[in-house]
Amino acid sequence: METPEKKNRKISTPHTRYRSLSGYLTDRFGERVHKIAIDAGLTCPNRDGTISRKGCIFCNSLGSGTGASLIGGIPVRDQVASAMEKIKRRFKAQKFIAYFQSFSNTNAPVAILKDLFDQALISDSIVGLSVATRPDCVEDEKLKLLASYSGERMVWLELGLQSAHDITLKRINRGHDVACFEDAVGRAKELGLSVVAHVILGLPGETKKMMLETARFLSSLPIEGVKIHHLYVVRKTLLAELYEAGKFSCLEQSGYVGLLVDFIELLRDDIVVHRLTGDPHSGELMTPLWSLNKSQNIGLIHEEFERRNTWQGKNFSVGK
Ligand code: SF4
Repeated sequence: METPEKKNRKISTPHTRYRSLSGYLTDRFGERVHKIAIDAGLTCPNRDGTISRKGCIFCNSLGSGTGASLIGGIPVRDQVASAMEKIKRRFKAQKFIAYFQSFSNTNAPVAILKDLFDQALISDSIVGLSVATRPDCVEDEKLKLLASYSGERMVWLELGLQSAHDITLKRINRGHDVACFEDAVGRAKELGLSVVAHVILGLPGETKKMMLETARFLSSLPIEGVKIHHLYVVRKTLLAELYEAGKFSCLEQSGYVGLLVDFIELLRDDIVVHRLTGDPHSGELMTPLWSLNKSQNIGLIHEEFERRNTWQGKNFSVGK
């Protein structure tokens, strides 16, 4: 029988209680790898009218308060070159991931996507390509294009799921269902792509049980990473209207910390945790204000792992 101490050692990261992204990248590349956020100027089918014009209820016209859209309008090549220079100067960094972050980064014909991705890969020091999009926007030819980069670079396909419950996806106006996500993951996996799933804890109408079912669902799929954050309210969104009308409230900081650790205890221990908490743009955030204390939030999460003496995968079991 494996002791917890032995099991923990399997996860070789600075934060040994979960498989952190920074630890994973350092193990793989031997040094810190920095992400360069790119705004490719693409839109989203859930905003451009293909599916709807409303968007997900938590998303504003800039794409959920990530801040990346603020660099839009500049050619991808120039965005990457200028960010690389700044990061090199500040951190003496040598390795980078080109991260197509804003909106849906496969929402264009393949030839246009190829040009955008090629523009980002301006140097061998770009060791990874990460593309965030929706699961209903990844036709096979787009997946094949992404897979064509994976010989020389690490390629991640980041797919928004948010919840493993169709009732929630409908409530938040995602415009796709859980089966669509599962299908996209399966097709990406067949082409050897690494999938990173995005989830949000604290969505309207979701119980703790539902959120933990999302963790079990993700652990049952061939995904390689997960990005988790709490629900926060950004101004000028449908969610802001619901909040102002008193129709829902956000998780408290301590509630999120406990729930997140519960969630990670259910994740397979090989899944890389890319994000533990949200990082909203301060000018756009309405509530909860604790969202802005990123380092405090991460500190509290680490403390909760220690307090419980627990670790990623502790409560995972096959078929559960
Ligand atoms: S899929 Fe992303 S960009 Fe599109 S509406 Fe939803 S959150 Fe916004």
